[in-house]
Amino acid sequence: RSARGNWHTRPRIGIMGGTFDPIHNGHLVAASEVSWVYDLDEVIFVPTGRPVFKLDKQVTNEEDRYLMTVIATASNPKFTVSRVDIDRPGVTYTIDTLRDIRALHPQAELFFITGADAVAEIMQWKDAERMFDVAHFVAVTRPGYSAASAHNLPKGRVDMLEIPALAISSTDVRHRAATGEPVWYLVPDGVVQYIGKHGLYRQD
Ligand code: ATP
Ligand code: MG
Repeated sequence: RSARGNWHTRPRIGIMGGTFDPIHNGHLVAASEVSWVYDLDEVIFVPTGRPVFKLDKQVTNEEDRYLMTVIATASNPKFTVSRVDIDRPGVTYTIDTLRDIRALHPQAELFFITGADAVAEIMQWKDAERMFDVAHFVAVTRPGYSAASAHNLPKGRVDMLEIPALAISSTDVRHRAATGEPVWYLVPDGVVQYIGKHGLYRQD
């Protein structure tokens, strides 16, 4: 029996992919809201290896991003973190993420979670059509990005879900950390401390 008191014949698993450089409260609220609305049993956070749309940008080493994701999700019994993208060599493509999670959970119904900005680009992703055969897609609202930009999506393949608006981005958190501005309450406390302890995002 699920948290909402329903019976499901198959486990229902969300997949929250991201660079998580660093993970912030916008990611966590998105995962929590989708978990509640879709009555999920688990949400697997999957930090990317080499993100394909950020090949020209510097990205923090994957073990730091992985550990911050573990720290941020540790207190939620439904949240787990997977290394599939980090451990797969080369550039990360979502189709590979989905296939790896599918292989680990052959019976599960899968729900891939994205923000409104990412979903607008989804049809450019490798094997976009195939992805929809492996998982449902849920696009959550994100301040600054309109859901209308996702108009070219195939009909009925992507659900839109309005969630509480948190105007937080990892880019802004990195800028703040670099200039010494506070990042408290934008990211979980443990992540604030991890950033400080390891001197992440400092400009030396
Ligand atoms: P960056 O600024 O480095 O791109 P980001 O804040 O966009 O970081 P990502 O790791 O790129 O974070 O995003 C992972 C996923 O989370 C994407 O699908 C993105 O759309 C979604 N997302 C990120 N921030 C929010 C937010 N504040 N509200 C809703 N969804 C979000
Ligand atoms: Mg982003």
